[in-house]
Amino acid sequence: MARIPAREPPRLAKPVDDIPSGSLAALRREAAGCRRCPLWRHATQTVFGAGPGGAALMLIGEQPGAHEDLEGRPFVGPAGRLLREAIAEAGLDATGLYMTNTVKHFKYEQRGKARLHRRASASEQAACRPWLAAELAQVRPRIVVALGAMAAQTLFGNAFRVSQDRGAWQALGTGTRALATWHPSAILRMPSPGRERARRELVADLTLAAMALT
Ligand code: SF4
Repeated sequence: MARIPAREPPRLAKPVDDIPSGSLAALRREAAGCRRCPLWRHATQTVFGAGPGGAALMLIGEQPGAHEDLEGRPFVGPAGRLLREAIAEAGLDATGLYMTNTVKHFKYEQRGKARLHRRASASEQAACRPWLAAELAQVRPRIVVALGAMAAQTLFGNAFRVSQDRGAWQALGTGTRALATWHPSAILRMPSPGRERARRELVADLTLAAMALT
């Protein structure tokens, strides 16, 4: 993928104050000690974005799950496997992408030995938004794909509905285009045959992103 960064940092629909600055490595170190919201207290570690700083395509998910929390990397575990298969089917090289989440700590409820996923609140999402804005400002991807409602609404606003609006290009400021698609975790939770259809749509949307890079 050619390294032609966006001229300006991509803009989020939701307001962000106090965007941290510095290299991705410095941001990752700073985020490791983040206390901007209470989610750090019970999680294992901050799950910051991963991938080359010069990536032309950024994938943005929602928040880390139990596997990501333990490994410290986004998109591992069953949802990550589904996503990586879809990335390959779309003709993309996963090692050339920057992958991150909207919220960087795992939120869960303890039930016996199980840690059940809980959605980050609006205030927790807002507290974490500066890290995403900082990643976008550093990487300046030409193409962004939002995976799931949390990422899509952070980029495009609360009225965005993945089920209705996925696969359609939007501008994220100057020089960056973005679209939204299904989150792989949501696909895994769907009953058949909707699951197979959503998986095909995920591959189709990633293929659109791949074509936009050529
Ligand atoms: S979820 Fe985000 S804002 Fe909250 S402590 Fe973790 S890194 Fe900081």
